[in-house]
Amino acid sequence: MLSLTLFCNLSYAQLNRYSFEKGMMGSPFKLVLYAPDDSVANAAANSAFKRVEKLNEIMSDYRDGSEINLLSAQSGSGKWVAVSKELFDILAISQDISQKTEGAFDATLGPVVQMWRHATRKGIFPARQEIEEALSKTGFKKMKLDADGYKVLLAQKGMRLDIGGLGKGFAAEEAIKVVKSYGIKSAMMDAGGKIVLTDSPPGTGGWKITVSNGSDSLKTMELSNTSLATSGPTYRYMEYKGVRYSHIVDPKTGVGLLYHVRTTVISPDGTVADALATAFSVAGIAKSKKYMKFFPESKVWLVEKQNEQVADWNMLE
Ligand code: AMP
Ligand code: MG
Repeated sequence: MLSLTLFCNLSYAQLNRYSFEKGMMGSPFKLVLYAPDDSVANAAANSAFKRVEKLNEIMSDYRDGSEINLLSAQSGSGKWVAVSKELFDILAISQDISQKTEGAFDATLGPVVQMWRHATRKGIFPARQEIEEALSKTGFKKMKLDADGYKVLLAQKGMRLDIGGLGKGFAAEEAIKVVKSYGIKSAMMDAGGKIVLTDSPPGTGGWKITVSNGSDSLKTMELSNTSLATSGPTYRYMEYKGVRYSHIVDPKTGVGLLYHVRTTVISPDGTVADALATAFSVAGIAKSKKYMKFFPESKVWLVEKQNEQVADWNMLE
């Protein structure tokens, strides 16, 4: 009896805070966790980062041999291509969000994103015809999914998938699953602003997370067992003739967003939070309010700036 009590107290009380950071998927990935000792903490962190590395091999559009690029290469062949469960799952979430946001979120924007990447590197604004040509190879309805056997059909030649709008949220979710498998209850994965949280740090009311509207307003919240994602053009944009274009593209025009938007979404699932932050940036306040009916468990803070006009919709207060 005595030894049992002792064991319980020990296992309960002695948790240390550990933090790890690694550059992955083009962003810093930060993992904080509470573990009884170094060996558990290190083993959990190593496995979690390995999981992200594996996902990157599948989903990176920078690697020719990645599973997603091999799938895109078969577009227009008429073939149903069997893919890994991971790739299927992320595409299924993506399609669901595309449908519910009338295509504001679209994982088939690869040709457009590639064109803009190229243009940014060269400093040349693409011709209208080039934008239209790239746009003609996009459209989420041209991607078909078959859950029996995890198969995907890309209906048109020249299509290219880009899951940059939800990949980090997915990776954070998967990394946290790995951490939990080590018996760790309290952990946070911040994948470049896409954050997944489990139980609060021991003895606290939650993980302290600060979000901002992009300029003057900050808000700190105590959160646990939820996810939060922010999208905004803070670092990533293209500037041409004094005009800034976001790396988030409007699927209707094929052009990066011209107004400055900053969107934070809280959702039970990190992949959904990430996708919605991108989708609502495209949709803007009025349409996002309409789409929110499909996501009753999510909350959003959306700030739009057009010239000096600021519009703010904040459900986080
Ligand atoms: P995020 O930081 O999550 O908003 O993701 C931005 C990335 O998503 C871009 O760099 C593109 O790879 C991709 N993307 C751009 N526009 C869209 C869009 N309308 N729907 C889905 N993904 C997009
Ligand atoms: Mg996103």
